[in-house]
Amino acid sequence: CGVYGVTGLPEAANFVALGLHALQHRGQEAGGIVSYDPDTGFNSARRFGYVRDNFTKASLMETLPGTVAIGHVRYSTAGKKGAAIRDVQPFFGEFSMGGAAIAHNGNITNAEELRHDLIERGSIFQSSSDTECIIHLMARSMAKSIPDRMEDALRRVEGAFSIVAMTRTKLMGVRDALGVRPLVLGQFGDGWVLSSETCALDIIGARFVREIEPGEMVVISADGSLESRRPFRPKASRSCIFEHVYFSRPDSILGGRSVYETRRQIGVELAREAPVEADLVCPVPDSGTPAAIGYAAESGIPFGLGITRNQYMGRTFIEPTEQIRNMGVRLKLNVNRALIAGKRVILVDDSVVRGTTSQKIREMILDAGAKEVHFRIASPPTAWPCFYGVDTPERSKLLAANMTEDEMCAHLNVDSLKFISLDGLYRAVGEANGRDPKAPQYCDACFSGEYPVAPSDMIAKGFTV
Ligand code: 5GP
Ligand code: SF4
Ligand code: MG
Repeated sequence: CGVYGVTGLPEAANFVALGLHALQHRGQEAGGIVSYDPDTGFNSARRFGYVRDNFTKASLMETLPGTVAIGHVRYSTAGKKGAAIRDVQPFFGEFSMGGAAIAHNGNITNAEELRHDLIERGSIFQSSSDTECIIHLMARSMAKSIPDRMEDALRRVEGAFSIVAMTRTKLMGVRDALGVRPLVLGQFGDGWVLSSETCALDIIGARFVREIEPGEMVVISADGSLESRRPFRPKASRSCIFEHVYFSRPDSILGGRSVYETRRQIGVELAREAPVEADLVCPVPDSGTPAAIGYAAESGIPFGLGITRNQYMGRTFIEPTEQIRNMGVRLKLNVNRALIAGKRVILVDDSVVRGTTSQKIREMILDAGAKEVHFRIASPPTAWPCFYGVDTPERSKLLAANMTEDEMCAHLNVDSLKFISLDGLYRAVGEANGRDPKAPQYCDACFSGEYPVAPSDMIAKGFTV
């Protein structure tokens, strides 16, 4: 998901709509905006579909007045498939000291336990979302201010969260102690901006100030003053390494690094680790493109756009049902026969999850007359599900959980298949000595199976780590 917040700017909701549009790659199912205006109070609009189809209409934007607003773009993660408007964020709660709205990116790993507990004690849930627990925990807190109540609530919550929240007068941003999901701070004139990624600061012309640090909470008041708090016990950060590979936009700055440059470097590492003789390096668009550029540069094999993406389709993976996903590849990608025919082709993609994308692409490439097909993958084999806010299927559906690299190669029926090593990936994100096995610098649980936060709800259901 993507989160965005603005304070100190007239018509704040318009800026939020633009920010969410730039974060659309983080979630395409639905979007929502809440704003506050002294005359009309809190207002909200939550809609299914793209931001550009919902939040540019003057009629809708006029219902969201005020100088403080937050927003959210949603993609549902494991266990909560399907669409219900009551699950679309931001969520709103009314407390004795006034209202508050919150938007959350990540996943609370003890949400089911918390929900059960809260319901036993009288909380009435409105949605099926893990995020709603935070509102109820805030309602039960005895603290005197909303930011203090949010601190109280978040200390009970386990897992990954980057949160943007607001009261009548304040904008707040928080990252969990490990900083799994990103969150950045920007400045625009007299106003402040919080965003999942820097590309959504660029869209409104805001200046990137810094990242919100892991375990940090910022509280920005109406007068523009910013207070930084430390609600959690300090821990070594474990931000999501997959943001660098796939999730973030290549024009964002993440952890002080250009995402594009990291991806290009992954391609360079991959060419060193897994060279092969071929005629063409071709990206699987769009997520494989920077890595393919790096692979081609390092190997000296020509780069070419052998696959064209229909720009009007969303990310296939994000379509929630298997059936749509299966069709999706052909709806979205087509092979450039004139370029591919007769060639030995290296296809570079960001990841193999179920293997459906790779299988369809192999078929399409061979239909177009390729002589050989070699897959090079910009992440290590995805052998474990993510419980921190990226949608991966259950373990049994992950190709790499059930097969060795050779078996996957045979299953996909390609001439060769190689994944970047975990150390190679760490080198590409700037860790010259690779992964520190005693204290890994990132979360890489979907590749290593080492979960930095025990997924307690899943463990209660029998998942073994
Ligand atoms: P598969 O077809 O192997 O199940 O999925 C792999 C494809 O899904 C890749 O091309 C990748 O770009 C795309 N993808 C989209 N969203 C995600 C995600 O959240 N995780 C992973 N690992 N891949 C994703
Ligand atoms: Fe990122 Fe993978 Fe960790 Fe999930 S499990 S937070 S996708 S590195
Ligand atoms: Mg892809």
